[in-house]
Amino acid sequence: QLPETPRRIKPLSQDVVNKIAAGEIIVAPVHALKELIENAVDAGSTALEILVKEGGLKLLQITDNGHGIDRDDMAILCERFTTSKLKTFEDLTSISTYGFRGEALASISHIAHLSVTTRTKESSCAWRAQYADGKLVSPKPGQNADPKPIAGRQGTQITVEDLFYNIPSRRRAFRSASEEYAKILDLVGRYAVHCTGVSFSCKKHGDSTTGIFVPANANTVDRIRQVHNSTVANELIQLSAANERWGFKSEGWVSNANYSVKRTTLLLFINHRSVESSAIKKAVEQTYANFLPKGGHPFVYLSLEIDPHRVDVNVHPTKREVNFLNEDEIIEIICDEIRESLGKVDTSRSFMTQS
Ligand code: ADP
Ligand code: MG
Repeated sequence: QLPETPRRIKPLSQDVVNKIAAGEIIVAPVHALKELIENAVDAGSTALEILVKEGGLKLLQITDNGHGIDRDDMAILCERFTTSKLKTFEDLTSISTYGFRGEALASISHIAHLSVTTRTKESSCAWRAQYADGKLVSPKPGQNADPKPIAGRQGTQITVEDLFYNIPSRRRAFRSASEEYAKILDLVGRYAVHCTGVSFSCKKHGDSTTGIFVPANANTVDRIRQVHNSTVANELIQLSAANERWGFKSEGWVSNANYSVKRTTLLLFINHRSVESSAIKKAVEQTYANFLPKGGHPFVYLSLEIDPHRVDVNVHPTKREVNFLNEDEIIEIICDEIRESLGKVDTSRSFMTQS
């Protein structure tokens, strides 16, 4: 039914705008967790503990031992575009931490119940605060919203409860908690392999067994053994490639020609962020096709460090793929390296069987 007079255009309220933006950035619990893990790592943590209820929809809790947050910053912590990592637009091109540009905690606070407990080295106690819609809120009726002093160790604990509680359509779209938990384990496993020097644990609430546990002193191969299995850990070759002209270095561990599974596992990090790249995946699979039985696929862990000036980090946060300059050239160098390593292992093998 048509209105008699033209509909007037009105701005949406800020609250609605924020909720829409947050729901676009954080589509599933795993996206919130990724930001929280990266924050903990950025804070110099060497121990990360993750607790999950109902696939992260009921509870996502991450406890770190990093540098903590200053009590006086807690009031603006969850405002949009507040960050300790970036000051000017130019910083975007040289910053090694990237992602949400001060949007992660803000987004979470618009679509979940968020509480933060944190303690810096300088502070004589920990501080605890609750947030809603970007602002501090009172934990109990009658109390003020200011952070409250409590006992606690150095580091930060972020608790995210009832994700999407105010977006019922999104909440209903999640069919199975175990599917969401599987995505969480996949992500935690990626960071657990990559972040040497950091211990990781990830648990489902009420489970006596740990989903993932990796001690701080484990090397990369042992991390892969813990998170994946010994079969693959026993068949890895170390990879290393660099090129000054294209401004990149890469390190990794890839499976040899003995190892062949139905689906490729690609753990890809660019400047220490877990990312996806269909171009790299495709090139790697093509490289292995010459070495593996038909239908066989490899395991590849690759950490790429690219000159930040050459990476476009200013893409929308929902983009899980990253753009960088001379992608084709870089991929070719890495695949050449893989090809050479696979070839070497092959020769030694046939040599051994001959003798
Ligand atoms: P960004 O990471 O892009 O700066 P966030 O919204 O993720 O934006 O975090 C805002 C700020 O809160 C960070 O810049 C950092 O100073 C602080 N912060 C968040 N999580 C932690 C943490 N686990 N430990 C210490 N500081 C943190
Ligand atoms: Mg962040």
